[in-house]
Amino acid sequence: MALHSDTTIIGHEQPLRALAMHLEQDMVAHAYFFQGPRGIGRFQVALGFARQLLCEHHALEGDGCRSCGLFEKDSHPDLMVLEVPEGKNSISIDQTREAIQYVNVRPYLGGRKVVVIRDADDMPVEAQNSLLKTLEEPPAYVHFILLGKNQESVLATVLSRCRVLTFSRLPLGQVAEYLTGLGQDEAAQDLWLSFFGGEIGSIVKILEDSDLRQRMLSQIADYTGLLTKTPSERLNWVRSLGKLGVEDILDICSRLEILWNIALLEGLSPDTAPGEHHPIIRDFIGKAAHSTTGSIQKVLNSVVTLREDFKAGMNAQLQIENLLLSLPICLE
Ligand SMILES: [Zn+2]
Repeated sequence: MALHSDTTIIGHEQPLRALAMHLEQDMVAHAYFFQGPRGIGRFQVALGFARQLLCEHHALEGDGCRSCGLFEKDSHPDLMVLEVPEGKNSISIDQTREAIQYVNVRPYLGGRKVVVIRDADDMPVEAQNSLLKTLEEPPAYVHFILLGKNQESVLATVLSRCRVLTFSRLPLGQVAEYLTGLGQDEAAQDLWLSFFGGEIGSIVKILEDSDLRQRMLSQIADYTGLLTKTPSERLNWVRSLGKLGVEDILDICSRLEILWNIALLEGLSPDTAPGEHHPIIRDFIGKAAHSTTGSIQKVLNSVVTLREDFKAGMNAQLQIENLLLSLPICLE
């Protein structure tokens, strides 16, 4: 599936209504800031709105016009998407400069040009500043859509030029309903809801990508396996993963946190029927359940510390190794 034409949208009625109204009343802002957690569909909404803005008829769904056709093929000349390059932590000033040059050239097709900027709140100050002048005096045909988790990380001067729309995680019931519609059974729903909650975009991504899914499942199985491993076996395991990127480390943190939280809850209410969980989670609980509440709490605290230290720039590889060594050893 083409990345930029995947505009499946679930939920987000409020921001969608606001955008529809802006378009209807011809009051579309020159810059938006879509605020909300990752993986809930902000990007899909941004692309859907970009397509609609660029469409010859502003149609709600792709209507086969020349513009929509180019959009479907991921080759619309009046749409630019800025993303964090692989292996980097943020969008660079070179990328924002390129975007400024891009918007200074008139649209090829219709009367508009759209620039979507992902992870705008992670942009370094200099990159944000470079956009400022264009945001203050944008060419009439330009629309920026900035995406970010947190509007506080964006310069006030930049934010003041943006209409802020807030996106929330979907209610779990709505996600479960969606998963039922896709034919996902209860065990599968437990797995996805446990790990992604209301982050529907992340769930859609993993359901569509069997490699990603397989990797996640085998990682969870590995976490269970680690519990009966010796310290040196644990170190060998983490070293076998190779050099860990930012996403890898945050994934390990959040997955361990989720698993140990489930184990903690199970320990507190051991009467709950274990059948409610996906088999792979049940395996983990089976091994981890023998740990004391205190030692589980210690693991959870270590994960929180690791994440903070990592964000503060400390050596993550070493920290992950320490974390794995600190996991309780659970004998079968
Ligand atoms: Zn169209």
